[in-house]
Amino acid sequence: MAEKILLDIVTPEKRVLSETVDIVVAPGEEGEFGVLPGHIPFLCKLKVGELRFRVGQSARHVAIMGGYAEVLPDRVTVLATAAEDAAEIDVVRAKAARERAERRLAEARDALEFATAQAALQRAIARLKVAEKL
Ligand code: ATP
Repeated sequence: MAEKILLDIVTPEKRVLSETVDIVVAPGEEGEFGVLPGHIPFLCKLKVGELRFRVGQSARHVAIMGGYAEVLPDRVTVLATAAEDAAEIDVVRAKAARERAERRLAEARDALEFATAQAALQRAIARLKVAEKL
């Protein structure tokens, strides 16, 4: 039985991280799920939110902008649209994105503008929430 999990998080732009960890908790589209070593294999979609993992006593947090996760007994691979480790998040930029999105939500003239602004707001909120955990 696997004792650790190799967690890889990649985006189209870069490898965000590759670490050996004890537990992963990820934002599945159907709800948050936890993975311990030896988990049965599955594949699922991720929503915008926070992924967290633990190595010994230390917990780390990553903002995930949606994507896919492949879970194997000794591996979790996340293919994310975009993702940033808490330390990488530019808080000033995320606050500006949140304000922009709130303005666009208030001024949206149709469902598409509303949905686009809402998605941008969710990304900014996820980044700010993760940045707070640093
Ligand atoms: P913005 O309007 O500030 O560009 P966004 O939500 O539209 O935000 P994305 O399209 O999700 O941005 O990401 C584009 C790229 O910018 C990705 O590489 C992502 O990791 C990076 N990125 C976006 N916002 C931040 C941030 N606040 N801090 C660090 N990197 C960020």
